[in-house]
Amino acid sequence: MYILLDLDGTLVDTNASKFDDIKFGRDRNFALSDIPILPGALNFVAEIKRRGHSVAIVSDSHTAYVGPVSKRVFETPWLALADKPNTAKLRAFLESEFGFPRHSLPEEFLLVGDTRLDIQLARGLSLPSALIFRGVDDVPHDPYHNEESAWARRYMEGATYTCRSFEDLMRVVESPAKQRLVLEDPIGTAGARLHKGRNRNDGFTLVRGLGRQQQGPCDAYGAIGRYYRFGSEDRDESFLSKVAQDINRYLRLEVLAQNSVRWDMITCVADKATTKPPRKMAKLLHAMDVGLPKEELFKWSQDVTGSIRQEKKRAGRMEFIKRFVSLDSHADLKDKNVIVIDDQYTTGATAMSHVDMLLDAGVRNVLFVALFYLAEEVPIEKTCPRCGKPTRIKYKKRDGAPFYNCVPPDFNGTGCGWMGNITHG
Ligand SMILES: [Zn+2]
Repeated sequence: MYILLDLDGTLVDTNASKFDDIKFGRDRNFALSDIPILPGALNFVAEIKRRGHSVAIVSDSHTAYVGPVSKRVFETPWLALADKPNTAKLRAFLESEFGFPRHSLPEEFLLVGDTRLDIQLARGLSLPSALIFRGVDDVPHDPYHNEESAWARRYMEGATYTCRSFEDLMRVVESPAKQRLVLEDPIGTAGARLHKGRNRNDGFTLVRGLGRQQQGPCDAYGAIGRYYRFGSEDRDESFLSKVAQDINRYLRLEVLAQNSVRWDMITCVADKATTKPPRKMAKLLHAMDVGLPKEELFKWSQDVTGSIRQEKKRAGRMEFIKRFVSLDSHADLKDKNVIVIDDQYTTGATAMSHVDMLLDAGVRNVLFVALFYLAEEVPIEKTCPRCGKPTRIKYKKRDGAPFYNCVPPDFNGTGCGWMGNITHG
């Protein structure tokens, strides 16, 4: 594997402003011993080299600093002034250093960093990425009045893997397929931790995502194709049963195997009478088998008007759901632990309003599992050959196949409507 490591914040702890003069190349008389190396960083780099991987440092900082640190501290090649998230300099560096893309595939790379720019850069070149996020686990405040949790925001940047330590990162390097999201790899077992917080019933509320519904470019594992097929009217039984098996694998290996909570039942968000395909979520629920009772706990009101998509803000979306969705009042949910399945996580409004209804009924722990979570759009450098404006990567509704689009005013763009095939190289 070719491992590309960001420097500041990833390998060295130089985020304080007193390091700015060094990083920007204004102070060139610094001593290497002034640079605080993060605990475990030297070992990690030495160990991946020992295991036969190629390593390089990719940094936005100045050559006069990145050069000596890479060469003398980490003993790696380097790219300084990388201009993240623009892809041109990294593309040229990978070509000269690793023969990319003629002699190496995007999937052989891993770009590791602690910022959104690192992840955007990787996605711009369709390289797998690992976000190093050393943030705290719990959200220490009331999650229901918080627009998004830090976890959800970081995951929505769209990294392939999220790591909290060099130990996590080593697992990715050693067995990447297993560390991928369960809906993105046939042997993946991971879920994205979009939220974890204590709730008002003295239990935990957990929200997990099982695949990225990316916008713009992404590595080969992004799940937008499956997202569209799941919501398509011609999805077939074998597709549905494969998705069900993947969720079973996640729940069995990552949730039910842990004995901290005994889960009592599994349910899904309600399908509207007009949902296409009909009973989209309920059919998935009944195709699953993790040895837990299944209940269809939620119902849409008969006289629902409008659509949640009209509400752009999370508060409006939560209000919409609470007005028209209700919980089956016959179920005894006091002190129960309930898993809920939904197909999409965007603002978190559906997740949190369903969680609220369960907590009102006395449920203690809630695990809300969204099959797909929206990963933010990444800028691309392709311009329109017809009018010269920047294009965007869009996806065909039917199968999620990507194409370039100079987005016209009808679709909230300013372009001419040109569409082009995406070819590599
Ligand atoms: Zn155009």
